[in-house]
Amino acid sequence: MPGHPESPPRLVAIERRLEEEGWLGWERRPAPEASAEVLELVHTPRHVAGIRELSEAGGGAIDVETYDGPNSYRAAAHAAGGAAAMARALLAGEATVGFSALRPPGHHAEPEVAMGFCLFNSIAVAAAVAIDELGASRVLILDWDVHHGNGTEAIFRDRDDVLLITIQQELIWPGTGLAEDVGEDRGEGFTVNIPVPEGSGHDVFLSLLDRVVAPVAGEFAPDLILVSAGFDAHLEDPLAGLALTAEDFGQMAAVVRELGARLGAPVGAVLEGGYSPSALADSVATTMRGLGGAGDPVTAPETEVAAAAAERVARFWPAAGGS
Ligand SMILES: [Zn+2]
Repeated sequence: MPGHPESPPRLVAIERRLEEEGWLGWERRPAPEASAEVLELVHTPRHVAGIRELSEAGGGAIDVETYDGPNSYRAAAHAAGGAAAMARALLAGEATVGFSALRPPGHHAEPEVAMGFCLFNSIAVAAAVAIDELGASRVLILDWDVHHGNGTEAIFRDRDDVLLITIQQELIWPGTGLAEDVGEDRGEGFTVNIPVPEGSGHDVFLSLLDRVVAPVAGEFAPDLILVSAGFDAHLEDPLAGLALTAEDFGQMAAVVRELGARLGAPVGAVLEGGYSPSALADSVATTMRGLGGAGDPVTAPETEVAAAAAERVARFWPAAGGS
């Protein structure tokens, strides 16, 4: 859709930047289309068929901001397939880190609902493939997109083999992701929602990685770490009000890289939001650098947000209770 923030120039900006920098020495791989069967690991057959049929009919609006264009089924199926291919490569030991930079994003897509620019939940597909097809026992999904990963939460909220830790700006769209929401049934405690106040930046995110993500991940012992890597928590993003910089994303990536190395779990990032093309391109590049080994993890400062979140999650994850 002309003028829509989630548009092809996002990927053009990323690819141009990476091209200039020789793709940072990373190997590029194709993103094959996910089959309906694979998409149906996390979506209902009715949802998958509905998106396909709407695309085939020429496309149309799903809600006021989410569109399914004539090529959208194909694009979304490749985005999911690329994330799944990355999970396969990581679990086969072909690499210890990966980045699936495709669009549209996916973390708002629920089992039967497309919303928030998202048609299929690519990171959820990757996690499901890791478990159902590749024999992973536990997958950690860290979602640092500025918006709540409601779709990923809806898909896994009653499961204890996928742990979702999702950090979002409080009170913004879609309005879910409250701290009290911890999952249900077997999945109680396996959804960790961390709303953060407007203006949060480096200190809040780095301290959350240190005080919450690292101890909880250590206790969960994932076979694979996936990152819902949205970059709309960037200071310059037009859709939200947080204050991260491209350098901060690089530092966060370095921390997650070290965490994965410590736990023996490969780390794969999946692109979500990020609507300032230049900030997005900068941030993807610094994230890839951080994942790829640049920069030592920085010492995280203490913040009230992280201390409160650690105290809250210690009910389910005692490792977060130590100070
Ligand atoms: Zn977002």
